[in-house]
Amino acid sequence: MMPLKRTCKEVTALVVAREDRALPLSERLALRIHMNFCDACPVFERQFMTLRNALRQWHSYQSRDNDE
Ligand SMILES: [Zn+2]
Repeated sequence: MMPLKRTCKEVTALVVAREDRALPLSERLALRIHMNFCDACPVFERQFMTLRNALRQWHSYQSRDNDE
């Protein structure tokens, strides 16, 4: 059993958790290894990043609006 092997469920949870806290090196490594052989998780990560960026832009737009 590979110590750095993660399931897709664990990897998607790590992608989300990475937004709130710094991941330990072993988890970052496991994430990268998983992304190399998995088809679904890189897609999830891309969509999650797009969504996160869109939300962030919307938030800054909102606060800019409120300042005026
Ligand atoms: Zn996966």
